[in-house]
Amino acid sequence: MTTVAGALQDVRVEVARLHGELVRYGLVVWTAGNVSARVPGADLMVIKPSGVSYDDLRPDNMIVCDLDGEVVEGEHSPSSDTAAHAYVYRHLPEVGGVAHTHSTYAVAWAARAVPVPCVLTAMADEFGGEIPVGPFALIGSDDIGRGVVATLRGHRSPAVLMAQHGPFTIGRTARDAVKAAAMCEDVCRSVHIAQQLGQTEPIAPDDVDRLYARYQGVYGQRGAQR
Ligand SMILES: [Zn+2]
Repeated sequence: MTTVAGALQDVRVEVARLHGELVRYGLVVWTAGNVSARVPGADLMVIKPSGVSYDDLRPDNMIVCDLDGEVVEGEHSPSSDTAAHAYVYRHLPEVGGVAHTHSTYAVAWAARAVPVPCVLTAMADEFGGEIPVGPFALIGSDDIGRGVVATLRGHRSPAVLMAQHGPFTIGRTARDAVKAAAMCEDVCRSVHIAQQLGQTEPIAPDDVDRLYARYQGVYGQRGAQR
């Protein structure tokens, strides 16, 4: 289906399914965390309802909002992070998906407000360098979205660790954003453990560039899902 209604139904299914991936990868506890996706061909986004158990998330109880975060369709309130997601879609037109979790190791780095240094080839591949830290921001206004956009605009990394809060990730698709959330947690864990063992060694910038170019270009088979 190519109609907006058809696209909207496809996005509902995909966003509900991707919340299951947050659970599968151990990125969320209770009802924390959220995924959203832009609806192709419309100024709309689909996001999780607030406070509903992951076991009960289905395509039909996802919330449809406009890009100001106002509810267009849905029985529940949208996720409390809806304003942040909406801000990202308004200001980064290339972004098709956003994810946010309180995954343990990424949150631990966020609590310290320290960027994760690029000391692993997997980081160069996925993030193109360090994972940056964004400003401290209170929930409930545009402040989180503003901090996410200010940090990630022009940055290779699809992940930002919002200070004293946690990771927000973006992607061309919602699946890409969820993948970035899973990879972010994985490398935050690995680098943390490495630093318990001793000093870590940064990868030379030229090598980071080469790794990033290869992974984003050749390895991904251009246009194929990674
Ligand atoms: Zn949060």
